Amino acid sequence: MSAPLPQETIRRKRDGAALDAGEIRAFVEGVTSGRITEGQAAALAMAVFFQGMTRAETVTLTLAMRDSGEVLDWRALGLDDRPIADKHSTGGVGDKVSLVLAPLAAACGLRVPMIAGRGLGHTGGTVDKMASIPGYSVDPPRDALLGALRDAGCAIVGQTASLAPADRRLYAIRDVTATVESLPLITASILAKKLAAGLDALVLDVKLGSGAFMAEEDAARSLAASLVDVAAGAGLRATALLTDMNAVLGWTAGNALEVGEAAAFLAGGPRAPRLLDVTLALVAEMLVMAGLETDPAAARALARRRLDDGSAAAAWSRMVARLGGPADLLERPRAYLAQAPVVRPVPAPRDGVLAAMDVRALGLAVVALGGGRKRADDAVDPAVGLAEVAALGTRVARGDPLCLVHARDEAAAGRAAAAITAAVTVSDAAPPELPVVLARVTPGEDVQALGRPAIPGRP
Ligand code: URA
Repeated sequence: MSAPLPQETIRRKRDGAALDAGEIRAFVEGVTSGRITEGQAAALAMAVFFQGMTRAETVTLTLAMRDSGEVLDWRALGLDDRPIADKHSTGGVGDKVSLVLAPLAAACGLRVPMIAGRGLGHTGGTVDKMASIPGYSVDPPRDALLGALRDAGCAIVGQTASLAPADRRLYAIRDVTATVESLPLITASILAKKLAAGLDALVLDVKLGSGAFMAEEDAARSLAASLVDVAAGAGLRATALLTDMNAVLGWTAGNALEVGEAAAFLAGGPRAPRLLDVTLALVAEMLVMAGLETDPAAARALARRRLDDGSAAAAWSRMVARLGGPADLLERPRAYLAQAPVVRPVPAPRDGVLAAMDVRALGLAVVALGGGRKRADDAVDPAVGLAEVAALGTRVARGDPLCLVHARDEAAAGRAAAAITAAVTVSDAAPPELPVVLARVTPGEDVQALGRPAIPGRP
């Protein structure tokens, strides 16, 4: 039977029909091979944006995109039968969870092949952070990747061209046709890559708040529910945590600065309490899903022990060394991590309490310093960013530092300081104390509020 005509598939979706599996597979195959034009792919993306997709259509799209390239089979590549698990975050500012979670989960008995992304918009990217470690390869040959997974239990690397190539082409088209913000397309895009990475279990960190990709709680909850449902339909165990992104996560934002904070976190502290909380919660989800623990509280306690007894630090050092970086980064971070020539405090404009921050604006200030990309081919400056970012609720006197700007020159530091001053609110009243982990979402739209008495719209 000949493949369905692309224009017929587009017309049917435009008119609100549910596409059948053959139509979806043929379209994805055409996107991969180039048979489908950019205009046709954009038109279908826009039709999906307006008409949506059923869960069954989204599962088919996800699996077709997974199968558009290599699907990794770690056991066939020689790894033993330890469960393989990973975490995906929708992205935030100062979100260095991946850096500490991968070695911690490995120290608890999982294998974590973490295929991470570059910075996107105002949010930082794990690959850019790891690339700020001298010598560390985010694009290692297959045997080095396997070596790290075998010796350290984890490897944080970048996406290769062979994984889900249909997503690579479709995402580039969506990016320039205002069709990124479609729930089924985001779901299929994220999950196709994770499924191609050969996982047994996946935890999703779906952020909400001023620094999140989905700022509103309803949108974040819908994305979380879509991700866990479609993952289940595609045969992947997954749960999601809704976590707060109304504050920078931890004390730093910027590539080498975040590696430095992650290094201190693993090496025994100090540890920012919200970073610790979200990391332990995510690792506990992974351990329960992978079957290494049955009780979430016991899983969290195991993770805490592996952090405190140095096992996670040892896994990190083995991973970094295996992938070409310095084995003693945790002991001597300043000897290796780039440092900016200008460090300038941002003074509090008045006495009071740090009540709110526009986290997206802080992320954009880091991008403007050179710590992120304005265009896809921009180079990233590893040294710049923000350090010693005050936590919400901190009481300050006028002139006290709210954070330190690390910049290439005085002019850039001045612009960043002005942007940060405009992005923070210092007031008389302390903000309500909100936990960082707000809810847990499991397949079937089962949402358990954790941090609040209830999530609006849910019993
Ligand atoms: N991240 C992805 O990988 N895909 C999307 O569509 C959006 C965010």
